[in-house]
Amino acid sequence: MARRFALETDKRLLAKAAWMLGVKGLRSVHKHKQRLKKGDFFPPFLYLSVINSCNLRCQGCWVDVAAKQHRIELDAASKTIEQAKEMGNSFFGILGGEPFMHKDLLTLFERHPDVYFQVFTNGHFITDEVAQRLRKCGNVTPLISVEGSEIISDTRRGRDGVLNQTMEGIRAAVRNKLLVGVCTSVCKSNIDDLVSDKWVDRLIEMGVMYCWFHIYRPVGPEPNPQLALSSEEQRRVRQFVVDTRATKPIIVIDAYHDDAGNALCPAVTGFTHHVGPWGDIEPCPVIQLATESIHDDVPLKDTFNQSTFLRDFRELTAGNTRGCVIMERPDLLVELAEKHGARDTTARGGVIDELKAVSPRRSQYQPGDEIPERSFVYRWAKKYAFNDFGTYAKHFKSSNYQDPQADGVASEGATPEDTPDLVQIRT
Ligand code: SF4
Repeated sequence: MARRFALETDKRLLAKAAWMLGVKGLRSVHKHKQRLKKGDFFPPFLYLSVINSCNLRCQGCWVDVAAKQHRIELDAASKTIEQAKEMGNSFFGILGGEPFMHKDLLTLFERHPDVYFQVFTNGHFITDEVAQRLRKCGNVTPLISVEGSEIISDTRRGRDGVLNQTMEGIRAAVRNKLLVGVCTSVCKSNIDDLVSDKWVDRLIEMGVMYCWFHIYRPVGPEPNPQLALSSEEQRRVRQFVVDTRATKPIIVIDAYHDDAGNALCPAVTGFTHHVGPWGDIEPCPVIQLATESIHDDVPLKDTFNQSTFLRDFRELTAGNTRGCVIMERPDLLVELAEKHGARDTTARGGVIDELKAVSPRRSQYQPGDEIPERSFVYRWAKKYAFNDFGTYAKHFKSSNYQDPQADGVASEGATPEDTPDLVQIRT
């Protein structure tokens, strides 16, 4: 890995990443821990969905990509970043829609050379010209999503030629020596192709420096529960991640486990929260409920510290499961929204009905099947910077846990035999 970093990357970009993401990132986590000790709260990593529009129409997307375009405008995004910087934050995740459709995105990066941005993108707008500008900024890593082989990618993402264009984006970013990541929302139709040594080797060969495996969550207006992974498949992904970390020269990210393999939710632990395209402050990107906004006339520091909605979200969820609440206990979110009068932050409306329609299923929490990290580097990094910060020890009550698997087939995900459309996708 070290050899790859030394030989394949732009040293200026590497130094910036090491400083802003490594040193300053660790410092922001340290500050977060100090705040928690004093009973204060501000998430060390913020995600901003800067625009709702997208050029694709992916299966299962929860963003209102076809609605009238809405953006967090440059000044509002800048003000949010400034306020987070004052709290010691140095890393921001930028999402959409497709973030590169935001007309001021690159200006935003240029305005904040002292923090690091990770852009979740389909890669279609990364031309050589854009990549050169990103290289000049030096503080941006594109995380480009690949959802499967050509047929599966195009099926999942709503039109022909999607994968080719995405691969072009990856090539342009690598050609211009950016630190490039590739992420995948793993589901039944891509697990065999992408959770594999062959795919990871190909990424390494292409010059990709890190990959990130999310688990597909069948939520939102058009969920595809037939694509959701079974418990066994989720364990397979986790094992693959742990093994790849220990054996291949590529960084592998997953955001659901601590060093011992205990499941966690990064929103529940307070590690991250999310700001949507309308400025609403949500627990995470898929939970589209809020009581506060960055546009409120309240300093962000006070908003996070005083939000009873966000605090109750963290405590109520942590009290019931270490997994993903929207997959396992959507009823808790309905209860929470009612208690706080939380608004539906979507353009489509109907989030509460969508939550009520979710069939509970197991998520990353697989009690008794924890898979610890093999790599000492990840073990150390997670021990220090990515764990539950004492959240579950304080709140989790095993007597409250309801195992969705007790519900049978629905909670395990359907088999290909049950889902002819899935078989069709595979062929
Ligand atoms: S609630 Fe689920 S989707 Fe949201 S951050 Fe937690 S694990 Fe991830």
